[in-house]
Amino acid sequence: MRILIAEDDPIISDGLIRALRKAGYAVDHVVSGAEADAAIASQPFDLMILDLGLPRMSGIDVLKRMRARRCKVPVLVLTAQDGVDNCMRCLDAGADDYLTKPFSLPELEARARALCRRGTGLPNMIEVGRLIYDQSDRLARVNGQVLELSAREVALLEVLLLRAGRLVSKEQLVDHLCSWGEEVSNNAIEVYVHRLRKKIEPGEVRIATVRGLGYCLEKPDPASQPAAV
Ligand code: CA
Repeated sequence: MRILIAEDDPIISDGLIRALRKAGYAVDHVVSGAEADAAIASQPFDLMILDLGLPRMSGIDVLKRMRARRCKVPVLVLTAQDGVDNCMRCLDAGADDYLTKPFSLPELEARARALCRRGTGLPNMIEVGRLIYDQSDRLARVNGQVLELSAREVALLEVLLLRAGRLVSKEQLVDHLCSWGEEVSNNAIEVYVHRLRKKIEPGEVRIATVRGLGYCLEKPDPASQPAAV
């Protein structure tokens, strides 16, 4: 999952970036409305956290422009205490949720998770083989046992699960896992995939390598599954 933060207050943005990266999201940051507008129009994001009071184009104009382009990326608006009226306008303009400053980081993370989850259009619990992934707490279980996954491995599993049965190119993985300026080699991606593959194997879930193209999380063949009782 990749998140764009548009916030010009460095104290707020630093805290947000640190917390969300720690949670395994790829996070990019811009400090003006114009940059937010350009970034959201050209890069694949799963969520935008948008401050309303931005220089060079207000948050609400960024929002209106992206919705006019039919961009469906979920948007969580941040606003000052006295800006609640603005928030109502934002919801009307297509924002999905809002928080007034100051806010608690755990609350912001919970709302971000909820919006990312809704944005996938998939049920809360994604089940492939004997692997069950819960989008609300971002935990993967096999036979009821929680898998110990690093934040990066969770992010990788999410990208592959959301596209289960389809080819995911290395470029797509890099787009969803890495922030701007973060150099991640193809070798590093291979290492992450290798580690994740080992951990989810007991759930009868396979990550196939499509040589030269990318990876595919394969759904088990229904014919080989025990019949439902
Ligand atoms: Ca501001």
